[in-house]
Amino acid sequence: MQKPVIVCLDLEGVLVPEIWINVALKTGIEELKSTTREMPDYDKLMRQRLAILDRNNLKISDIQEVIGTMGPLEGAPEFIRWLHDRCQVIILSDTFYQFAFPLMKQLGFPTLFCNQLEIDAAGRIANYHMRMQNQKKHSVAAFKSLNFFTMAAGDAYNDTAMLGEADAGFFFRPPDHLPKEFPQFPVTHTYGELQERLGKAGNL
Ligand SMILES: [Mg+2]
Repeated sequence: MQKPVIVCLDLEGVLVPEIWINVALKTGIEELKSTTREMPDYDKLMRQRLAILDRNNLKISDIQEVIGTMGPLEGAPEFIRWLHDRCQVIILSDTFYQFAFPLMKQLGFPTLFCNQLEIDAAGRIANYHMRMQNQKKHSVAAFKSLNFFTMAAGDAYNDTAMLGEADAGFFFRPPDHLPKEFPQFPVTHTYGELQERLGKAGNL
């Protein structure tokens, strides 16, 4: 008999726009536009972001206000509903619960595994805490050990270990250079294409 299926999805770039890029656009703070593409060291990048927020006196409520004006990518809620009708869905993201909340609400609150921000009494983001290193890969490995058939989709470098660990892994709208580096993962550009790939691989 076929194992039950879990689909693990990246959040930013797959279901919602890039959060920090939107914060940069809406606050007009250019230097917040850096992402892991320019700065692969995530810790260094996050320290820089928190320092920029401090310099501009931006609190968690300011950032949440900006995030509250963002919506999911077009078609994302329907895609999640399509999956929920057929299998289990888990979002594996490097973002933070305090950022993701307004967006997860618009997606119907699928299960989210991510990280935490430390907020001080004045509402300043004092620090950030990754729950563990490489949670995306470890989560998929754990689901496999629980005897699920695992599939995954993501758009960036930080997803490739998860895609490799899954029984079936797919790129969704990756930057051009990534599929050249990781030709083993089929590329999808629309939710329709991704549904077709997931449907075939997981017999959904
Ligand atoms: Mg992403």
